[in-house]
Amino acid sequence: MNSSNWQQNQLATPGTIREVGARDGLQNEKVIVPTEMKIALIKRFIDAGITAIEVTSFMSPRAVPQLADAGEVLEGLGDPGPGVVLSALVGNAKGVRRALDTKQPALRELAVVVSASEEHNRANLNRSVEESLRGLEEICRLAADRFKVRGTVSTAFGCPYQKEIKPEEVFRVIEAMLAAGIVEITLGDTAGMGEPGQVGKLIMGVREQFPGVSLALHLHDTRGRGLQNARAGIEAGVTIMESSVGGLGGCPFIPGASGNVATGELVRMMHQMGIDTGVDLDRLQECQLFLRSVLDKKTV
Ligand code: MG
Repeated sequence: MNSSNWQQNQLATPGTIREVGARDGLQNEKVIVPTEMKIALIKRFIDAGITAIEVTSFMSPRAVPQLADAGEVLEGLGDPGPGVVLSALVGNAKGVRRALDTKQPALRELAVVVSASEEHNRANLNRSVEESLRGLEEICRLAADRFKVRGTVSTAFGCPYQKEIKPEEVFRVIEAMLAAGIVEITLGDTAGMGEPGQVGKLIMGVREQFPGVSLALHLHDTRGRGLQNARAGIEAGVTIMESSVGGLGGCPFIPGASGNVATGELVRMMHQMGIDTGVDLDRLQECQLFLRSVLDKKTV
């Protein structure tokens, strides 16, 4: 959909919020949140009308102790109801096997992350971009019978380790992801360095290079531009937006990276733009209060 179509259809445009707070948010919290609290939080997301939730990650429990209870959280959610799609992050074949062992029919998607920046990929995943890309085929093959695999290109709009990220570096990762069998691409502004003009331009560029590709955006608010960038992405036709309740979550490997775009702010803006997210803002507020009580800290 181009931006003129978007303007014509704006009152009827459906949009999807993918809540990543339980994974991307909590993984940066030092205090381990009890499994039953995580389940209660995610159930509140569902009650608020959120239908796409990245619940947890099957990364090594040693690397991410906060999410060591991935299987228990997913199974503890029981039947989340019709239309809810749960997802989990994986980093390798072992993670996929753990996901396959999990009895949760609404777990229908796995997510993988590869950075457009060589240095960030090494810091975040301890391997080169090339090595990460080589591992995708096995992940997709193992997941194929049960899961859709989506891929995030992190640092797509800038990396503090590397001066600039060229569109070609983003395209290279997307190309390998699609070749491996990944069906949806998320452009991640991991360090919050993107600017609205750049966001629109990169989306157009990706569309040109990969016609028909399904796109999502994962934005951070590090420099206070999260919402402006989200608006630019929506105007360029992206309707799947990732965010976290209360703006929780930074990136442990990027000094000073503040959190993801806050779900409440994003939903409010999308509704003002005439986009129907299906999310109830009052109930979302309850999620935020609950999260605050769990973490015992102020969230925005
Ligand atoms: Mg994030």
